[in-house]
Amino acid sequence: MPELKVTPQHLEHDAYLYIRQSTPRQVLENTESTQRQYALRDRALALGWPLERIHVLDCDLGKSGSQSAGRDGFQKLVSEVALGKAGLVMGLEVSRLARNSADWHRLIELCSLAGALILDEDGIYDPANFNDRLLLGLKGTMSEAELHFLKARMRGGMINKARRGELEMRPPVGLVYRDDSVLILDPDAEVQAAIRLVFETFDRTGSAMQTVKLFHEQGLRFPRRIRTGVSKGELHWVRAAHPRILQVLHNPRYAGAFVYGRVRTHRLPDGKHSTTKVPRSEWQFVIPEVHAGYITWEQFESNKKRLAENALGFGGARKAGPVREGPALVQGRLICGVCGERMSVHYNIVHGQPVPTYVCQEASVRSGEKVCQRVPGAVVDQAISDLLLELMEPMTLEVALAVQQEVEARITETDALRRKHVERAQYEAELARRRYMKVDPDNRLVADSLEAEWNNKLRILGETQAEYEQQIHKQRLLIDSQTRRQLISLAAEFPRIWNDPSVEHRERKRILRLLIEDVTLINAEMIQVHVRLRGGATRTFRLAKPLPIAQIRKTKPEVVAEIDALLHRYCDREVAEVLNRQGRRTWQNEPFNLKKIAHIRQAFHLKCRYDRLRARGLLTAKEMSVRHGVTTTTINAWAREGRLRKHPYDNAWRCLYEPLEEHAIVKGHGGRRPIQPTDIHRCTRETRCSMKRTPCGRDRRPGRATRPRHSERAGRGTADSKPDRRCRA
Ligand SMILES: [Zn+2]
Repeated sequence: MPELKVTPQHLEHDAYLYIRQSTPRQVLENTESTQRQYALRDRALALGWPLERIHVLDCDLGKSGSQSAGRDGFQKLVSEVALGKAGLVMGLEVSRLARNSADWHRLIELCSLAGALILDEDGIYDPANFNDRLLLGLKGTMSEAELHFLKARMRGGMINKARRGELEMRPPVGLVYRDDSVLILDPDAEVQAAIRLVFETFDRTGSAMQTVKLFHEQGLRFPRRIRTGVSKGELHWVRAAHPRILQVLHNPRYAGAFVYGRVRTHRLPDGKHSTTKVPRSEWQFVIPEVHAGYITWEQFESNKKRLAENALGFGGARKAGPVREGPALVQGRLICGVCGERMSVHYNIVHGQPVPTYVCQEASVRSGEKVCQRVPGAVVDQAISDLLLELMEPMTLEVALAVQQEVEARITETDALRRKHVERAQYEAELARRRYMKVDPDNRLVADSLEAEWNNKLRILGETQAEYEQQIHKQRLLIDSQTRRQLISLAAEFPRIWNDPSVEHRERKRILRLLIEDVTLINAEMIQVHVRLRGGATRTFRLAKPLPIAQIRKTKPEVVAEIDALLHRYCDREVAEVLNRQGRRTWQNEPFNLKKIAHIRQAFHLKCRYDRLRARGLLTAKEMSVRHGVTTTTINAWAREGRLRKHPYDNAWRCLYEPLEEHAIVKGHGGRRPIQPTDIHRCTRETRCSMKRTPCGRDRRPGRATRPRHSERAGRGTADSKPDRRCRA
């Protein structure tokens, strides 16, 4: 007798009727159930609860019972029970109260502690009673199991459809379902063009960001189909955002593939759901070429690979980045040998050309510490470039051989298949022959048809055999001439392609990435470079650091010594000419000039030509004029005429003069009877002898050879008089 369970103590407390429907649709359509739930109120009335003390909690209509989160009505019910206000808890069945065993058992526990009864359509239970609690527990478990089975059944159907690739899933923009549930390209040509542009641009640039940029630069919009709400199904044109373009590139459906299990859904403690991406290797079903697509499956795979490589520039690993425009060859493949972080590239402009420096600045960026290390890029790049050229020769041959083997393996594989096809045709022809032979020749009707069949089979056999031989011939041709030549020419062509200045830096770097995994740098006394090649091989080499610019600019000591020596005989301008004749060049590989010589002279504190000449006792024009009692103009004139030896010492052809030691000059004069100046030798006995052979023992300029060479007695010489060879002692 269930009514016996209701005691006056229970009646002193209130009765709570909990009403719930799982979905809004059930609320609308399943009104019968809702009515039945409300009808429970009458049961409470019959048990003796007054109407005003029966509380109806129906704010959870349209909410699932699989968890308590978000169910305000259920939470209120639990709190009322816990506060001891409830004498009776009513629900149409246990599943209305909770589909979750944990929630349900908690409610039973609270009811037993607070002394509340539980009532459902089948009866009334006292949770304090063991048998009742056992039954309630079972009912709760069954309710949860029911939900599970329902879900499992639905999911099983879904998985089955997915396995065949027939499960209808919301298609991305650019693909639509036809009425017969076949997925096709969106008939809207504009949408198609936009999607195609994304794939084409990515193919060309290799970067999703570049694709986004193109859309922005060209002022293009990207289609977006509204999924929910009042404008469901409408097409909007929006700005091409980076995440959207990435979604398109990552979505295998654009390659015509059916994929199930790309994301996994988890329930969070607050009842919300979160979705996580599943790695490519764990996708549940991947069926390529199920429907029409914008790209091929191979293209999709290659795009994925490129995107993954680009993404390595971000995130935790940061081992690599996408190839960029700059000339730094190993950009994006560098690891710091000191701290293990990824290194970045800085460029300095030297003579209008960007020169890379590899920098490890992770610590600096993250925590404001000092830059870990800097490595001059040009040296490393040159070494890597040389390594690559060195590797390419044998590697190409190996690759060529591997490809050859691969192709041959394929041929044997397909050859076996094709041969089977021929064997089958042979068997069928034989069968037809035997059938024909067995028949009674008098039975013309049957014999004719069997003969026709035999003929047909023979024809098929002939065709199959011809096709088989043709294929074999074709494939042999393919490997022997064309492929082999192409593969081998690659090795020879590589250095030319690599050094071709018209090849873009990006392309060169892409080639490099095919062969090199990463490069680790340590800037110690020498630059240590560890190269990890694809396939696991490693190379290590040490490079000398480039000289500091101050030392590069410094003129070599031998050049300085040469200049020092030359300055004894020549002025700056002449020194430059001599050096250039010798083929010497400055550090910038330019010819020397007067200014450069002057600069070097000053920098290395070499004595200038003037000081050297003065040190040898040479006099200025002024000094000479005082000594000889003539004007400086006369001195200049004498020097021009070759009577004095002059030595230019500067840029303006200013000169110093050798003092006259062994002879004097008597000034001439102009006027009606002009008199040329006269040289008067003051020879010693020794010099007089030599004087007969060479005038004054001094060499004269060739142009002055006809000039009077020897002294003439002062005042007696005329303009055309012959020089007197007599010397004065
Ligand atoms: Zn570092």
